[in-house]
Amino acid sequence: MTKEYEKLLNQVRRLVKIADIMELKLKRVSQRLEEISNIDYLTNLANRRYFHKVLENEWYRAVRNNSSLALIMIDIDFFKSYNDIYGHVGGDKCLERLASVFNNTLKRTTDLVARYGGEEFVILLPGTNLSGARDIARTLNERVSSLELPHSGSTINGKITMSIGMTAKIPDLEVLPESLILEADEALYCAKARGRNCIIEYKTNDKLLLK
Ligand code: GH3
Ligand code: MG
Ligand code: MG
Repeated sequence: MTKEYEKLLNQVRRLVKIADIMELKLKRVSQRLEEISNIDYLTNLANRRYFHKVLENEWYRAVRNNSSLALIMIDIDFFKSYNDIYGHVGGDKCLERLASVFNNTLKRTTDLVARYGGEEFVILLPGTNLSGARDIARTLNERVSSLELPHSGSTINGKITMSIGMTAKIPDLEVLPESLILEADEALYCAKARGRNCIIEYKTNDKLLLK
């Protein structure tokens, strides 16, 4: 082997090593980017995009296992007026506080709480029926009301309150995962119409039931 050839070979080895390090770094950066794209910037909860991915997976898993899937949809009452009174920064702090209550209330690793948009949150509960979801919704309500967060713009009790719509079912292969969102949303709409600060369950047979 000539000296010239050996020198060239060492250069190639060095370049291969650098390429390996770069590949590892790129992999880490792309993993981090993937994580960031699933997280809500304000609350650090999962975002709507990630929620939809998980909903789809859990829906078809529940079809295979013939198990129940529950969805709780939460909307903060009179939040526009909260911002008007306490400012946008105050509103942001309030959302962060509520998000941490939701997150800390959930026990199972498969439970997912996500910020669906603005002041709306969704909670997906795999392997949970309506009765289990009802217990969680009530606990969430109790924990938030025990915080007694002042909201002088609320005509309910001068405190932060939430309206909750929920649904649960054993998924059917013929139906799309989004049907769970539509049902919870319909129940939530009903909760608002009934005066807010309440939990409404979606019922397939006897339609909506006031809790
Ligand atoms: P309702 O009781 O019917 O739910 O009334 P609402 O005022 O809560 O509902 P509306 O949809 O009219 O207003 C939602 C408000 O939430 C609008 C916006 O000012 C506020 N909001 C949405 N996203 C954010 C956010 O990221 N930070 C803050 N501070 N406020 C937000
Ligand atoms: Mg809303
Ligand atoms: Mg609202």
